[in-house]
Amino acid sequence: MITADELDAVDAPWLEHVASFAGGVRMSTFPATEQEHNLRRLTDPAGVGLGPLAVDPAFRRGQALIRARRSSAFTVYDGNLTGHTVRSPAAAGALVSPTRLERWAGCPLRYFFEYVLRVAQVENPEDVLRMSPLHKGSLLHTTLDRFLAEVLDRPEPDQPGPDDAWTEHDIERLLAIFDEEAAQFAARGLTGRDLFWRQDRRTARRDLRQLLHRDSERRRQRRARPYATELRFGFDDGVPPVAVELPDGRTVRFRGSVDRVDRTDQGGLIVTDYKTGGTSAYTGLSESEPTVGGTRLQLPVYSLAARAVAGAPDAGVTAEYWFVTNKANFHTRIVPLTPQVHATVVADLTTIVDGIEGGLFPAHPRRPTWQLWIDCPACDPDGVGTAERWHEWTRKKDAPILGPYVALAGRQGTDRG
Ligand code: SF4
Repeated sequence: MITADELDAVDAPWLEHVASFAGGVRMSTFPATEQEHNLRRLTDPAGVGLGPLAVDPAFRRGQALIRARRSSAFTVYDGNLTGHTVRSPAAAGALVSPTRLERWAGCPLRYFFEYVLRVAQVENPEDVLRMSPLHKGSLLHTTLDRFLAEVLDRPEPDQPGPDDAWTEHDIERLLAIFDEEAAQFAARGLTGRDLFWRQDRRTARRDLRQLLHRDSERRRQRRARPYATELRFGFDDGVPPVAVELPDGRTVRFRGSVDRVDRTDQGGLIVTDYKTGGTSAYTGLSESEPTVGGTRLQLPVYSLAARAVAGAPDAGVTAEYWFVTNKANFHTRIVPLTPQVHATVVADLTTIVDGIEGGLFPAHPRRPTWQLWIDCPACDPDGVGTAERWHEWTRKKDAPILGPYVALAGRQGTDRG
């Protein structure tokens, strides 16, 4: 018997060594399929001994696609669906989440895949070596929500005020809830291999313990007390959607869920969105760049929801991403809801809604760089990278119709503009 490795060294009249698939197609004198025939014909333009290309509609479309993507024109093969009807986020009865519109701002093609075609990535539990960032975040959110809901269920005098630090009993209760929730994630096969999970579990418990210590300090400094947890709006169970009117009269109605709201002694509101990942994607966020080119809409929308629920339309609101891990050093990124911030949100929403209604879905990848993870599998299913997509973007982005999107993307940081 000859093994596959040994075959390489065999020199026999019955064996022909073929260097690659392309090499095999080029050498073939009698292609086995129409596809091979076409490939053979294309790799040997003289077509020695072969008939003409077997041109069918699929072949023509493939040819047109390659030519279009190599050109500098923004074509239907690049996500230009001008003239086609795409459901508007501002349509009557439409309810959207802030993250959905953030998606278009970050990469319109990704929005097209996820929300127009509704193509979802399939995750196989058996492939999960380590708990995904998404599930880590979900576990922490669920844990904190259950804990705070219990706290808010206490009689008012027993709820912690600004000067009441969380007690050791509170910490133990939080960790017990974490263990219960974590067991459910493990039972669903979402925590990865045991070796990694033991380490991740220890880290998460340390983070939660530290989170309560930090929270005691945070409430003391800001004179705040918990007011709401997982504040849902725009769903059927009560709180109406947040409506943002655009200058031309269209209205975008949002629904979502605010992780947490605190009230200050002065009547102000603090909106918190917990983050369990790194801070780098939020670097550009500030009062003067409150949406990072449309990619961060949650905080302003959540601020409006908190005001509505508190029945305080003029309350001062500060909204923040709180990176609740020791690794991120419990860093915060804060955006107050000022008239200027609101104006920026309205302007960016107008660009986003116009773009979706106008059928503009170009691929806008990050500038290619070496990284261990896949940002988005849509154009990068094998993890080899999106360099080709990036070059296409740099060729297409001068199309006048993309002007407003390019201006938005130009505010998203150097790896995006
Ligand atoms: S891989 Fe990149 S370019 Fe392709 S859809 Fe995803 S984010 Fe957009």
